[in-house]
Amino acid sequence: MPKATETLLEIDLNALDNNYRYLTSKLKPETKVLAVVKAFAYGSDSVVIAKELVDLGVDYFAVAYANEGETLRNAKIETPILVLHPLPVNFEVIVNRCLEPSIYSLKMLEAFIAFAEEIKQSNYPIHLKFNTGLNRLGFDENEISFIVEMLSKTKSVKVKSAFSHLAASEDLKLKDFTLKQINGFHKISEELTAKLGYKPLLHCVNTSGIINYPEAHFDMVRTGIGLYGFGNDKEENKHLKPVGTLKTVISQIHEVKESESVGYNRGFIAEKTTRSATLPIGHADGIPRSYGKGKGWVTINGKKAHILGNVCMDMIMVDVTSIDCQEGDEAIIFGPSTTAEELSAAINSISYELITAVSQRVKRIICRN
Ligand SMILES: *Cc1c(COP(=O)(O)O)cnc(C)c1O
Repeated sequence: MPKATETLLEIDLNALDNNYRYLTSKLKPETKVLAVVKAFAYGSDSVVIAKELVDLGVDYFAVAYANEGETLRNAKIETPILVLHPLPVNFEVIVNRCLEPSIYSLKMLEAFIAFAEEIKQSNYPIHLKFNTGLNRLGFDENEISFIVEMLSKTKSVKVKSAFSHLAASEDLKLKDFTLKQINGFHKISEELTAKLGYKPLLHCVNTSGIINYPEAHFDMVRTGIGLYGFGNDKEENKHLKPVGTLKTVISQIHEVKESESVGYNRGFIAEKTTRSATLPIGHADGIPRSYGKGKGWVTINGKKAHILGNVCMDMIMVDVTSIDCQEGDEAIIFGPSTTAEELSAAINSISYELITAVSQRVKRIICRN
């Protein structure tokens, strides 16, 4: 790629291909793959990523909210799309755009059936979400009889899949808890399948579950963060490549004299002459304010330049006192060398938060490195 001349998020589709192939190499050939492309495909570009995944042979997509699924349909993506967190107000968009709702409570089931009947749907695909310990969304296992009873009275919907979500698949210290969740899901799927009289697709693992719990792949796996290059594990990360590289450029360099300050509220006060480089990227672009006062850094000509003072909305100032650089030089925030995982750790965060924070005003560039 040519050097950045403004703030850019480079999206490397070859990295995505690599990650998809690596993750699917861990699956049995018949196991289906659901790619999670919520939140702009983890802060990148959901349409570009989804189209590439279609070419790679993905079976399913998931988004969090109905409008995210609508964006994919507007881009002519025809793959089935599971909406993980619908609300009754979204039912119309869901059906109009052939999106498939996760149904997570009896109230939702009742409401969706009533909606589907009213508009004369038959066998509309729905997905039943079971709570096995995350206590976020989902039916309780003791609701299976009610679910099946409600379903037996209508032809408007059909259970395409039943699923659950693991609370700590990346944390092997909590393996006992995860195994309990997996066993719970096993029991639920057996009872549900017996009572329904047909077998829906079953799925319960996310990326770390693919890696750590091969016995729990069931019929389909759901992967998000792994596709974008992070496996929540040092060894796994060696096989995965970050898809996004966030970079910018030096707009101006200032010489700051002893006792002068940099930025709002005099967040940095120079103890000696300091060279400060101003970059056109701030908290409105996805650099959390908590990176201020040296906690965060960018890489300029291979060297770390720490943030001076407070992060502004549209800018940061970084310390380039000992870096040979000039206005117009490139600055890399995260990418394959300083990874989003490493940078996020500096503020006790996780790769997920940092990469999804890149705001929509940052220009996206698609490349194949
Ligand atoms: C976001 C999400 C995923 C993806 O998890 P990763 O850790 O990014 O692989 C899978 N399943 C559900 C229900 C989710 O909400």
